Amino acid sequence: MTDFNSEFTMTINGQAVSSHSQLEAINPATEKVIAEFPDATQSHLEEAVQAAQQAFPAWSRLPVSERQRLVREFGDAIAANGEALMSLLTTEQGKGRDGAEFEVGGSAAWCAGISEQELKEEIIEDNEEHTVFVRRTPLGVVGGITPWNFPILLAIWKIAPALVAGNTMVLKPSPFTPLCTLKLGEIAREIFPPGVLNIISGGDELGKWMTAHPDIAKISFTGSTDTGKAVMRSASEHMKRVTLECGGNDAAIVLPDVDPKEVAEPLFWGAFSNSSQFCVAAKRLYVHEEIYDELMDELIAYAKTVKVGNGAESDTQLGPIQNKPQYDKLRDLLDDTRRSGASFRMGGQVDDAPGFFIPVTLVDNPSDDSRVVREEPFGPILPILKWKDDDEVIERANDSEYGLAGSVWGKDLERARHLAERLETGTIWINEIHQFAPNIPFGGHKQSGMGVENSLEGLSEYTNSQTIMVKK
Ligand code: NAD
Repeated sequence: MTDFNSEFTMTINGQAVSSHSQLEAINPATEKVIAEFPDATQSHLEEAVQAAQQAFPAWSRLPVSERQRLVREFGDAIAANGEALMSLLTTEQGKGRDGAEFEVGGSAAWCAGISEQELKEEIIEDNEEHTVFVRRTPLGVVGGITPWNFPILLAIWKIAPALVAGNTMVLKPSPFTPLCTLKLGEIAREIFPPGVLNIISGGDELGKWMTAHPDIAKISFTGSTDTGKAVMRSASEHMKRVTLECGGNDAAIVLPDVDPKEVAEPLFWGAFSNSSQFCVAAKRLYVHEEIYDELMDELIAYAKTVKVGNGAESDTQLGPIQNKPQYDKLRDLLDDTRRSGASFRMGGQVDDAPGFFIPVTLVDNPSDDSRVVREEPFGPILPILKWKDDDEVIERANDSEYGLAGSVWGKDLERARHLAERLETGTIWINEIHQFAPNIPFGGHKQSGMGVENSLEGLSEYTNSQTIMVKK
């Protein structure tokens, strides 16, 4: 399909549902309203949870192969609607064509990949006295809460494993990017039995109601660390399970033996893909002092070739910031960086033309305690920091409450690996970045999250462990 109809409805019990109250979605490249979407009430949430509860017994009893088949079919339907989803994604999120292809293609691939996964029953002991089995049972109704940077892919990272594991689901997208997710609900109506996947939209309050709902067994959340903590506090009331994928302030460490010309391009995209609205963007670039100036020059030269603009224009490589609050936060961070006396080697100036655009900004060796180093900008402002000693750079990289991911770049693989193992993060890439797959676990250390997504370990987070002991 190349275009969707312009109506946006929620999906509850397999039906299209609207609300008396509507919210507006804005194109961040133009600041124009592009559509209205439903602002769910508490009754809508009740209906969705009840529908998911009613669908749960039959869905969880289906053979796993049948659930896998339907999730795979969902992925195929996403691919079949790829053009329409990509164009809507660009309009509501801001990203360009390449980013939209990565996200929509990735979503279809994830449905296929997760559909290969199954948690098998294990025999732990089988002796003359007894047999002990451990099996995994689904939890019931899972609540999914997603952010605005990768609205389709991050929803699929939750929907596919939750459903394959035998749960039913109520999922709420960010109020800044609800449109593609609502269309996923529309696509799902044709595939899953009513109530298996419910998609409802609304403001942050809706997220709070979900985390407090007694009949939701687990919250799978992706978003900021502060909200993750609020989710965990609220989930504790009914001892809901939680998976929390939260913020990051990833360090990229560049050794002196790299060729600056060669690494400038991958480092640039490691930091600036999706206009740096990426939980695992390289957010602090530590460059060895021997090559600092040369690499800075190469990064500037490469950055000058990159087109920033409206994602709908075919040559755009970096789009705008997705929403006004985030744009204002970044402008404030630029002001603070300027006031602190740090110098910009590139960017730093924002004009007042329409659209939430922040230029690619490179900050020259700011102090370790400056906000631009300590905070997660979540926008294209990159501090580049000089280092000279392995122990020192590791100490500085680990001096953060975050622990999501990181990367090390160097020809001396032994030294790179040694540094990688000392980073306090869930993922470390060496000489590459942003490689993900359905079978590779992903999750944060420290205040970047709890639990993992993807892989059998991620799938098992949508289940309880059940032990059965049989006396002989
Ligand atoms: P956010 O925390 O503001 O919102 C995320 C979601 O939570 C939205 O759907 C929002 O409506 C909902 N929400 C807000 N308040 C809530 C509450 N009190 N209870 C329940 N739900 C609530 O995050 P954001 O600004 O949309 O996303 C940006 C953040 O997400 C960044 O910090 C980024 O690093 C993080 N992120 C992490 C990952 C990861 O996998 N670790 C991936 C993408 C984004």
